Amino acid sequence: MPPENLRIGVFVCDCGSNIAGAVDTQALRAYAENLPGVAVAVRNKYTCADPGQQEIQRAIYEHNLNRVVVASCSPTSYEAIFRQCIEGAGLNPYLLEMANIREHCSWVTPGDREAATRKAKDIVKVAVARAHWLYPQDEEQIPVTDAAMVIGGGVAGIQAALDLADAGHKVYLVEKKASIGGIMAQLDKVYPDIECSI
Ligand code: SF4
Repeated sequence: MPPENLRIGVFVCDCGSNIAGAVDTQALRAYAENLPGVAVAVRNKYTCADPGQQEIQRAIYEHNLNRVVVASCSPTSYEAIFRQCIEGAGLNPYLLEMANIREHCSWVTPGDREAATRKAKDIVKVAVARAHWLYPQDEEQIPVTDAAMVIGGGVAGIQAALDLADAGHKVYLVEKKASIGGIMAQLDKVYPDIECSI
């Protein structure tokens, strides 16, 4: 069960006009503030910039937050930065959830502010619900054997094995048939250059 003393902070990013141009971020902030478990919701112009990160850290201290939701861009862009940010304010870095209201909303719902805002609210609502179930995680370093196994010696498997080997890893290429090459090896010539397939 989620802890009873949930204090979630939601940080809604404008991304300049990238998000705010399509989504009513003021309305989104107000909506987020009333979601279950949310202690505070803040709107930033650029959340990943230093002032935005400082605002997150300040809110963690001032509101005694124990979960953070950042409603901004794809986690592939800044999730690592926001993890560092909340860790800098004393929270476990895994007590962070991202709501992607840019690639999943503002950029793909142009010209209909009402629909985009409604969708952004749903995305944030889901992220806040997920945040209820976040728990602190520890990172461990475990020694591994520096080798990879590629299963299947077709064209994709051969290329994967070559790429891994080029990257300096030992590779085991496993193929159930007597020879590698897969379907490609059964062809005579390949289009468009009519070259030998092997
Ligand atoms: S956090 Fe993402 S959405 Fe917000 S300003 Fe930075 S790049 Fe834009």
